[in-house]
Amino acid sequence: MLRFGHLIDGQTRDGSRRLEVFEPARATPYAQVADGTAADVHDAVTAAGRAFPEWSRWPAERRARCLERLADALEQRAGDFAHAESRDGGKPYALAHDAEIPRAIANLRFFAHAATQFASESHHGQAGLNYTLRLPLGVVGTISPWNLPLYLFTWKIAPALAAGNTVVAKPSEVTPATAAMLGALVRDAGFPDGVLNIVHGRGETVGEALVTHPQVRAVSFTGSTAVGRRIAGLAAPMLKKLSLELGGKNPTLVFADSDWETHLDTLVRSAFQNSGQICLCGSRLLIERGIAHRFRDAFIERVRALPVGDPMDPAVRVGPLVSRAHFDKVTWAIERARAEGARVLCGGGPLDRPGWFVAPTVLDGLGPDAATNREEIFGPVVTLQSFERDTEALALANASDYGLAASVWTRDLDRAHRFAAHLQAGIVWINSWLVRDLRTPFGGTGHSGLGREGGLEAMRFFTEPKNVGLSFEHRLL
Ligand code: NAP
Repeated sequence: MLRFGHLIDGQTRDGSRRLEVFEPARATPYAQVADGTAADVHDAVTAAGRAFPEWSRWPAERRARCLERLADALEQRAGDFAHAESRDGGKPYALAHDAEIPRAIANLRFFAHAATQFASESHHGQAGLNYTLRLPLGVVGTISPWNLPLYLFTWKIAPALAAGNTVVAKPSEVTPATAAMLGALVRDAGFPDGVLNIVHGRGETVGEALVTHPQVRAVSFTGSTAVGRRIAGLAAPMLKKLSLELGGKNPTLVFADSDWETHLDTLVRSAFQNSGQICLCGSRLLIERGIAHRFRDAFIERVRALPVGDPMDPAVRVGPLVSRAHFDKVTWAIERARAEGARVLCGGGPLDRPGWFVAPTVLDGLGPDAATNREEIFGPVVTLQSFERDTEALALANASDYGLAASVWTRDLDRAHRFAAHLQAGIVWINSWLVRDLRTPFGGTGHSGLGREGGLEAMRFFTEPKNVGLSFEHRLL
């Protein structure tokens, strides 16, 4: 059995209590992870507090070199990390190897560059010269989910460290493997002890101890809306800086004039990548009525052909769900859809094999008020609805409390831009999906979260602006 321990002040700590870690493709435990306590969090925060003065005084170039070396070390072991990510979360190996581990490497490199390129504002005018210092906050906490374990872990720690903070990071207890493996590379990459600490364990114990620790100045959280709300409730009275990246119920709008037949593979991927366990997946497909029947038949044919199975098989595109609890939630949501009157066009339940597999499922016959169309399922389950006019399409797309992402498929440029402006979403893709430029603002509105990550937004979140004003008389010398 493998064992994953905490990283606190440069030391691995096993802890006296441990949790089992499961392999979703077999539904059997394969490892144990330290079940952290509030005392572990306190030790990690104290170590981070001790490390902060020196780390924050280092020139940005020196911090950047540590991030670069960590990226290099990760790149050298990319195959091992992809294997671990696949085993731990049930993610297809090909997805981990070709997209998610490379993206974790890119996150580290991107924010290494950001550390040296980050500039602040200055205002020169009637009030003399004002310039803004952007100072690191101190000790910050990051909490990340199980669906993109290393990708989202690095998406948070990299800007926090680049900006000069020290970090206590909590990965999901469901998928601790790659964060623990990365922790083992930190010292050789040149990070002083205590700069990056990793405390594993349960959300309500480790997560809440981190959020409420008085020395933690800011919390960057990605996860469900329910937990985000709980964290906001805990952090608000303490007046902490908060970034919340939460759930989604994203619409995919397909117009009759689009090249939908050419893009069918991307449309299927946007619905079922990582078994639909990506916050950006489109789970509500809205199809213009004139093509609705043809689209439905072609889409279902493609979904039925998706290779589902052992995530280690390089040909597999859809693996199992991440945990027993999540499998139960998704299968319950399919039953609820049936009870609401949905027609199951394909899939519709678990696969008859070991592991937490649910067949890619397409439903229709439900309107925008159905719970199936309003609540996040976060699994391989999508609905089809049709529309006649643009106004109806927009109303259907915006019939959600969430507002994370949307994709619009049309050749009409004017319509594409009108929809981009009026869709209730933080991210809109036109004739594409999940094409990411790390410089762009990332995040959602409504129940999808507060604040933005990505590029300078992340560097701004992890720094405190301080204005310095110098007044002088405006007269000719
Ligand atoms: P989750 O249950 O909210 O957990 C997310 C993280 O929070 C985990 O590390 C979890 O620890 C921890 N946590 C749980 N309860 C906590 C508490 N009371 N206080 C502090 N931390 C706590 O979410 P998930 O099921 O892992 O992830 C799926 C959700 O994340 C979906 O809703 C998805 O849409 C969302 N997501 C959003 C984005 C985005 O960018 N907007 C990206 C990816 C995922 P344990 O796992 O150890 O309980």
